[in-house]
Amino acid sequence: MNKSLILIATGLVASFFINIAEASAVSQTKGTFVDKFRQLDEVLPTPNVYRSAAGEPGESYWQQQADYTIKVRLDEEKRRIDAQETIQYHNNSPYTLKYIWIQLDQNIFRSDSIAERTATFNSKPDVNLGGVDKPARITLNQLRRQQFMADNELGFSINKVADGRGRGLEFVVVGTNMRVDLPSPLKPGQKTELAIDFGFNIVEEDAVGARSGYEHFPDDAREGGNDIFLLAQWYPRVAAFTDYEAWTNKEFLGSGEFTQEFGNFSVEIDVPADHIVASTGVLTNERAVLTPTQRERLEDAKDADKPVFIVTPEEALENEKAGSDKRKVWKFEAQNVRDFAWASSRKFIWDAQGYEQGGDVQPLVMAMSFYPKEGGELWEKYSTASVIHTMEVYSRFSFDYPYPTSQSVNGPVGGMEYPMITFNGPRTILQDDGSRTYSLSEKRFLIGVVIHEIGHIYFPMVVNSDERQWTWMDEGLNSFLDGVAGREWDPTIPWGVEPRSIVDYMKSTNQVPIMTQSDSVLNLGPNAYTKPAAALNILREVILGRELFDYAFKEYAQRWAFKRPTPADFFRTMEEASGVDLDWFWRGWFYSTDHVDISLDKVYQLQLDTENPDIDWERRRQEEANKPVSLFVQRNEAEGRKTWVEKNPDIRDFHDENDRFTVTNKQRNAYQSFLDKLEPWERRVFDRAIAEDKNYYVLDFNNVGGLVMPILLQVTYADGSKEDMYIPAEIWRRNAKSVSKLIVTDKEVREFAVDPNWETADVDIENNYYPRRIMKSRIEAFKWQRSTDHVSRDIMQDAKTKLKSEEEKSDEKSEDQE
Ligand SMILES: [Zn+2]
Repeated sequence: MNKSLILIATGLVASFFINIAEASAVSQTKGTFVDKFRQLDEVLPTPNVYRSAAGEPGESYWQQQADYTIKVRLDEEKRRIDAQETIQYHNNSPYTLKYIWIQLDQNIFRSDSIAERTATFNSKPDVNLGGVDKPARITLNQLRRQQFMADNELGFSINKVADGRGRGLEFVVVGTNMRVDLPSPLKPGQKTELAIDFGFNIVEEDAVGARSGYEHFPDDAREGGNDIFLLAQWYPRVAAFTDYEAWTNKEFLGSGEFTQEFGNFSVEIDVPADHIVASTGVLTNERAVLTPTQRERLEDAKDADKPVFIVTPEEALENEKAGSDKRKVWKFEAQNVRDFAWASSRKFIWDAQGYEQGGDVQPLVMAMSFYPKEGGELWEKYSTASVIHTMEVYSRFSFDYPYPTSQSVNGPVGGMEYPMITFNGPRTILQDDGSRTYSLSEKRFLIGVVIHEIGHIYFPMVVNSDERQWTWMDEGLNSFLDGVAGREWDPTIPWGVEPRSIVDYMKSTNQVPIMTQSDSVLNLGPNAYTKPAAALNILREVILGRELFDYAFKEYAQRWAFKRPTPADFFRTMEEASGVDLDWFWRGWFYSTDHVDISLDKVYQLQLDTENPDIDWERRRQEEANKPVSLFVQRNEAEGRKTWVEKNPDIRDFHDENDRFTVTNKQRNAYQSFLDKLEPWERRVFDRAIAEDKNYYVLDFNNVGGLVMPILLQVTYADGSKEDMYIPAEIWRRNAKSVSKLIVTDKEVREFAVDPNWETADVDIENNYYPRRIMKSRIEAFKWQRSTDHVSRDIMQDAKTKLKSEEEKSDEKSEDQE
């Protein structure tokens, strides 16, 4: 986007929000007053029998259930799956359904999908008259994607849709959705069966960029190389039917993830016999697919205190050399999950360790990792350990991990979550000597992404929020908790969820509120991940405190485990369970694009008048004397110039001996009569205040950013001691732009500072100090150089260059590597 376009776009966004602010101001008052504490009930949906005003599932809460039986066959050569599924659909709603909507997410890769047709291009040529034009740019990755999409037929082929007795049903495909018309209406409490035969060509993840796909390893010893297959969004899934939206049939555009129903799965996965399969659920036919040694190791892993190899690195290396014509069928069962994903490859090393969490929900969880040799020591050391650490921390904040397995699989997807299984991308780097190393950032990436994706098994795989509408509800809450878990792993790693991490984003101009539908969000990372995560951190550490926050957050997690919460349910529960009014907080952080910038503009130091003229008027005389003397007078004195009066002292009179601060008995009588007229209690209060003679400071605060927040004030006294004061956000309730606060102290104050520990994401720290500080920074000297373009290059000299020989080229290459 060129600069003027950016400016226009920003202008539009800014004026849009100004209009909202003005509109709401107009509707409630004359003038410019904006009530940042206005009740949120005006915005939230009306409570009803399905969702209560407390943010709880209501007395008539319901949700649908879809159970799946699937047989799937992976064709490794064609990189294709073909499958038959039976869906048993339970209508628990109070409504009669004539049709069922099914999600066909693979159709996002069809050339006629909305996602493909609306993909935008963001590198335009810079055509500059008289200067040098810059061409538009396209990455080789983008070209690779275009070629892959053109060469392959993608999207679901739906070969049959039938009812439970095999009779064909009418269906209509609408983009990534499919409507199946039922032979007779499905009444409340009834269930029905659908049978669907389907298949699709798997996308190459590296070429397309997706949440699943295959990755090819051409350099493996086996002829033709090997693949890792990650399968997700791979079967026609029932669309969610909810109390607040009915059928969720917003097209899958890529950003807005999935809105799913819970159900039970029975899945048979038919793969080459030498593949290892990792999957949602529990393997139910170990004897048919694992060797006796592997089964023994798996048993040993249950009470091991370190991960145990089920398939060792050496065995995996041997495995990836051969290949097999035979097939094996892996059978998995999963109860009460909202989705099902799996991975398959002959490259997999497999380690496992039992996590004994106790309790009676799931006392033993098998934490497992599957990775190729490319994952190496990095995965061996950190993957399964991170899986266990995540469960330890998340369960403390929510509920016991409810499933029998918790898995991390390495593959081409950078990071993606499904029930009981996650796909994570980090790898080691192969060096010339055959060894493998990993950078600090790759190590941090692995630990961070495993924590994040395993954390998603809680949010949204169990606390089943609507991802297609609200990315923040799973990503924001999960980023908040992965920050907690991450910092309990190693607090020196920058986890990106501290208030100070979001300051640049908060003050940036091109923004939408957190409460924006997933596919329309600008800057998904900061908007849906870090801003809500930092907001929750601030809510926990600054506003509610850990005790109130943790109680309310756990209440939310437990209320909505295996149910479907909406944003209102979260806002209401947090407020209700903590007992603290947070309407202003949700309004500011989730519904607006305001940022925090509280400025301490002025501080006045005041001394209480005694009313005694002999004291007060002398003080005023001193104040007068402290003012600068006229430069004219100073210079006349310096020149030795005497005034007429000085030269003629006998001309002096009464007025030369007295000034306007001279006290007479008239004032003394007035003072006495002031004292006499005070009521006894007034006299006591007055006398005590005079005796104590405290320091009165008036502080003028200005809310530059617009977001109302508590004022965290640190007072540094003249004697060097410090005191922290907490002024709740409600100080802004009558005037959200500027407020004055009186602070009375025994000791004299040297400095006031707002939020000196950077706890509130205040974007301008420097206006927080009174008096202001000198800002320390750096300056660098540099040598100016003329830029070289195709006109100014020295062609006469360049033309003398000789073409490099093969030898010289290889010398250069080895130098590059040093
Ligand atoms: Zn995530």
